[in-house]
Amino acid sequence: MSANPRTIIIGLDGVPFGMLKAFADAGVMPCTRAIIRDGFFTPMQSSIPEVSSVAWPSIITGHNPGQHGIFGFVDMIPDSYKFRFPNFKDLKAEPFWNLCSGQAVIVNVPSTYPVRPMNGVHISGFVSIDFEKSVYPQSLLLELRKLDYRLDVDARKAHTAMDEFLQDVDKSLTARIKAHQFLWDNYDWQVFMLVFTGTDRLMHFLWDAYEDPAHKHHDFFLDHFKKIDQAIAEITAKLTAPDSLIILSDHGFEKLEKEVYVNHLLASEGFLAFEQGAEPKPVNMASATKAFALDPARLYINQKGKFQAGSVSEADKSACLADLEQLFSSLEIDGRKVIKHIYRKQDIYAGPHLNSAPDLVLLADTGFNLKGAMTSKQLAAKGPFTGKHTYPDAFLLVNNKDLTADLSENPCVTDAGKLIKSCVS
Ligand SMILES: [Zn+2]
Repeated sequence: MSANPRTIIIGLDGVPFGMLKAFADAGVMPCTRAIIRDGFFTPMQSSIPEVSSVAWPSIITGHNPGQHGIFGFVDMIPDSYKFRFPNFKDLKAEPFWNLCSGQAVIVNVPSTYPVRPMNGVHISGFVSIDFEKSVYPQSLLLELRKLDYRLDVDARKAHTAMDEFLQDVDKSLTARIKAHQFLWDNYDWQVFMLVFTGTDRLMHFLWDAYEDPAHKHHDFFLDHFKKIDQAIAEITAKLTAPDSLIILSDHGFEKLEKEVYVNHLLASEGFLAFEQGAEPKPVNMASATKAFALDPARLYINQKGKFQAGSVSEADKSACLADLEQLFSSLEIDGRKVIKHIYRKQDIYAGPHLNSAPDLVLLADTGFNLKGAMTSKQLAAKGPFTGKHTYPDAFLLVNNKDLTADLSENPCVTDAGKLIKSCVS
């Protein structure tokens, strides 16, 4: 093992600042509590939108989406209105491990599939499709299979067989911890990053179990966090004095009350139209469309010259933006305001990929979850999920206070990325 200071990054996907603090205070996560007591602990702003597929690329590159080019879980193929799923190949900025002089071990970071050759080990996270394209070097495949390593849980099971889903969540966590132990011991690494993603899955499906101590899965929920705390305890026991430990999340979570279908509102208000008799999906959008939304609530003006059947001229764009802002800022459901904030792209993004950015991004108010699906027949509905992502609500916890001296007062995910880069390069 090298004598150089090492950097260890632990990601807890979706865990809000308030939840981590509550679990530390209540003794659910005693090791985390000790790190908070002796280290630096702050709320952190998620990405906009507050989804893993944008937040993690911002953390691993230290750049905003205008520079790294990932604006959401789905995107549109230019000139086609067809969906595509951006992946690691589309990331336009360097992940921190490419700047590191020593070896890096990177495990389960979302949006890093497919892996590519690097100095060290990379096992990609959500969404990873093919196991062989998720592991570098390939010589590790055998060992990972022996450990029963799983790239992800099968979230579909949560809809039909909750007990099986929970078994899956638990087995994935156990295997992830075993894989980390194996890699920790068998590589001479300088930086080690491990992300736990079962937390996000549990909060989507079992937020009610978290809030209700009488819920039959309440203890499972707490046990999952206790097991993660034990893994953190194991890691801290192996640290030497100069090592840096950074623990962080990518966005927050809260109780979901209603799903709100943004495109339904756009269609009913005349902003979005489909070809006569055609299914309501992007490829069938008619040229009368002035604006449409991609998940979760990224609004694009259907601009001439930018989209295949663009209808809004440059001259009409600002009036269209103002109309959309008016529409969404006045939207109420059950007597409550739905939209907390509307961002214009130039206010939140900067960089060479600004042209690919959504024109507006909506941030939902408490309890509302915004969706970009086009097929919904109603504006709002109660879906199968009980928890939803929130902004700002992420957290950053660092064992060594000195490292955070230059951090801004209200740090965001890109600041965390810059902090990681300064530690490893
Ligand atoms: Zn996430």
